[in-house]
Amino acid sequence: MFDREMKKFPIDAADASKGSNDQRQRVTRENSENEQENIEDQSEMKHKEERESDQGGYSIDIPSFIDGRNQSISVYFNDGVLDCFICYEALSIPVFQCRNGHIICSSCCVKVKNKCPMCSKLICNRCKAIENVLKSVQISCANAPFGCEKTTSYSKKKGHEKKCSYAPCFCPRAGCNFVASSKELALHFRSEHGWSPISFEFGAYFSVSLNISDEITILQEKNDGNLFVLSNDVKDDRYVIGVTCITAHTSEAPFHNRILTPRTEGLCRRKLQSFIPNSQGPVAITPALGLSLLSRYFSSDGELKLHIRIGRDF
Ligand SMILES: [Zn+2]
Ligand SMILES: [Zn+2]
Ligand SMILES: [Zn+2]
Ligand SMILES: [Zn+2]
Repeated sequence: MFDREMKKFPIDAADASKGSNDQRQRVTRENSENEQENIEDQSEMKHKEERESDQGGYSIDIPSFIDGRNQSISVYFNDGVLDCFICYEALSIPVFQCRNGHIICSSCCVKVKNKCPMCSKLICNRCKAIENVLKSVQISCANAPFGCEKTTSYSKKKGHEKKCSYAPCFCPRAGCNFVASSKELALHFRSEHGWSPISFEFGAYFSVSLNISDEITILQEKNDGNLFVLSNDVKDDRYVIGVTCITAHTSEAPFHNRILTPRTEGLCRRKLQSFIPNSQGPVAITPALGLSLLSRYFSSDGELKLHIRIGRDF
């Protein structure tokens, strides 16, 4: 029945994320006929929220067609109910079960040689009921509050979120607590801090004219829109200049940078080659990852021309 209904009414932004109060409150039931129904709905919602906060589960809104009316029903899942008993990863089809009904993913089934580690019974059947649930459920991305409209099957949710471009990033300005997708963050930089990103292309050198008083300069990659901070921190009598990547996915492989200063009379050309740290929140470059320069590298107007290259390799 799930299947048939889902085909008629594709899911719109089903909310299933854990931990978002906004999402938890999106339990809707349209076309209420009388007040009594409204009161019942409110009490149901209250109970559902209590259950969720007690047990750390999540709910999913599923469109349905009841008595000729388009309605929305809410299904509540305890946390982990659609995860494998053994590896705790999200289940995907095929799903197996032992004679006692313990549910196991296909890769664990091979690893335990068809013998249930919970009860030692043989794992012999596909669990069609759970497979049908997995086929029916579409879950919205946890980054829906930040603008992501993607819905995925349960098993693909985590994979999508790991690289979702709407994952929230933090403003690098110390004391500013603004959090948004990188696209929104670029707008915030302009409107709140007056920072206009300098556009560049991965793998190609570009020039930046840095003023001695510029603590933060925003760099943005032309094609992918990745945001970087060129920071200029004063440490004792030196200026430490370096690049940080603003990303929600901090465990991602780091980018690399090269920074060159031009040959100036009486001063050596300075070079830096380092990886770029991923950052959430205020940026602070350590001298080991930045160019450490005395103020005489800046011109009498306080300017310093830098040639920078950012890429996945050196
Ligand atoms: Zn497993
Ligand atoms: Zn078992
Ligand atoms: Zn997303
Ligand atoms: Zn800010």
